[in-house]
Amino acid sequence: MDILDRAVGKWEDIVHGGGEDGGADNCSLCQEFADEDCEKCPIKLDTGEIMCDGTPYKDWAAHHNLDHKQPHVPYKIQEGCEMCEELAQKQLDYMKLIREEATNG
Ligand SMILES: [Zn+2]
Repeated sequence: MDILDRAVGKWEDIVHGGGEDGGADNCSLCQEFADEDCEKCPIKLDTGEIMCDGTPYKDWAAHHNLDHKQPHVPYKIQEGCEMCEELAQKQLDYMKLIREEATNG
């Protein structure tokens, strides 16, 4: 599934390429599924919850909201912040898992 490759690629870029997380604006899964309340999104199928509840994404967003005083996207890894790196890596790992599950059924 190409959209899963692009979703993983977004997080590869955030972790390794200094890329930005624009939330739904640069998430291929959101663009495909958010209009239908995430109903068929592979993340919703995994967690049973919408809006990425139950995923590491919530910790990533909360960290920016609370610790970096950034109330909304875009988020990116702040220079020298180990927590940013750790949380972005967790979300990347999670996206890879979702891709694997979707590919293997
Ligand atoms: Zn940080």
